[in-house]
Amino acid sequence: MSQLAGVGEWAATGTCPNCGGEVDTKVGDQLLDCRFCKSSMYVLPDGPLSYRMPADRAYSNESIFHLPYWRLRGVRYKVLKGGSKVVGGLVDLTAPACEHLNSGASLGIRPQAGRLHLTSWPPGTPGASLSPARIVDETGIDRLYNEHEDILFSRLIGEERVIIHAPFFLKNEGGRTLLMEAFPDGRPHSISESEADKLKAAIAGAPPPKELRFLTLGCPNCGHSLPPEHNAKVLLCEHCHRAFWPKGETFARMPYAIMGEIKESSRLFPFWHIDVEDKELGITSRADLLRWCAPFKVPRSKWEEEPASFLIPAFKVNARVFLRLAKTATIFFAGEEHRVRPGRGRLTSEPVRLPLSEAMEAVQVALCEMTTDKERRVPRIAAAAIKGVRARLLFIPFEPTGREYLHKESGQAIDLRAIEVGATL
Ligand SMILES: [Zn+2]
Ligand SMILES: [Zn+2]
Repeated sequence: MSQLAGVGEWAATGTCPNCGGEVDTKVGDQLLDCRFCKSSMYVLPDGPLSYRMPADRAYSNESIFHLPYWRLRGVRYKVLKGGSKVVGGLVDLTAPACEHLNSGASLGIRPQAGRLHLTSWPPGTPGASLSPARIVDETGIDRLYNEHEDILFSRLIGEERVIIHAPFFLKNEGGRTLLMEAFPDGRPHSISESEADKLKAAIAGAPPPKELRFLTLGCPNCGHSLPPEHNAKVLLCEHCHRAFWPKGETFARMPYAIMGEIKESSRLFPFWHIDVEDKELGITSRADLLRWCAPFKVPRSKWEEEPASFLIPAFKVNARVFLRLAKTATIFFAGEEHRVRPGRGRLTSEPVRLPLSEAMEAVQVALCEMTTDKERRVPRIAAAAIKGVRARLLFIPFEPTGREYLHKESGQAIDLRAIEVGATL
């Protein structure tokens, strides 16, 4: 029953809060599926998920402490200078999350050699003082991936931002202080006296340990179990058709709508429906958005009063399909008026794997991809701080036809393969 990790996925273990059994999981997955007591638990998000890397046995006599690293994995969308192009590429890296390590130091693939364990913040571990955004900009990803384009701005969009706690110890050697990596192939880092003092102070003043908290996968409305979907950010109850997301200590209701007819065979694809307003750019209504992105469409007069809404895919697909769907859904689906509520029967949906916060980040990138007159407008979009003013979830039914899912009215198709590959992104 152990899950095999796909490309770029790291295996880990967690402790079942129900029976104490050791459960196989994957780094970044909030769901713990226990094969011993058959319970499914959802880890309450209280900051990023964190995993402890074990110290190598060779160092069992040392005073081990841990230092946090970010593990960032997602699609980085780059808007290139000249404004004509938005490109996306997979990013997968580790970098220190605190100042006590050389900012270029990476764990590489070494965390895969030991057994990573889902944990609360270990005692005596300095806080994560470096933001992931800073790491993406400063660790020279473009050098790393051997890319040299001129980038106007970039966004890393993807769900995996976790902390890996790597083991270290301090050693004095010939009057020098060495910060030693306590994992296989560990390297020494020579640090100055003042750096060593700062590190000791940070360890002494480390954040207090917190217990990991869990939610059982029960529907707060009807009591049926919620589907144990790995990496899902929103869970749809198959029984009462309500949607929930973890908020604070509980599953809170997530409002959603369904657009168009649902058939027996339909698969619902989730989109984040985000209203934005940017007075600086002059995008405050649906009509404004159309003038920016589809000037050939004549806006109806009432669209001047309706909000400018983006539809951002809430499921995982590759960068090319993601941008295409964001564009076409925003321009074309937003034009449909009729909404239906689910009736009886089972609803099958693609899991919501992209959190709302990430979808918000994607709006600016999507607008660059969608707008006409890119040369003039893209630099303005890059300089803007576009704000979402309202968000909800919208499910759009697609019909399976051979190797793809099709939305007949709009002619939009989603390739099955893009979904399969996307699910592991
Ligand atoms: Zn259990
Ligand atoms: Zn229910």
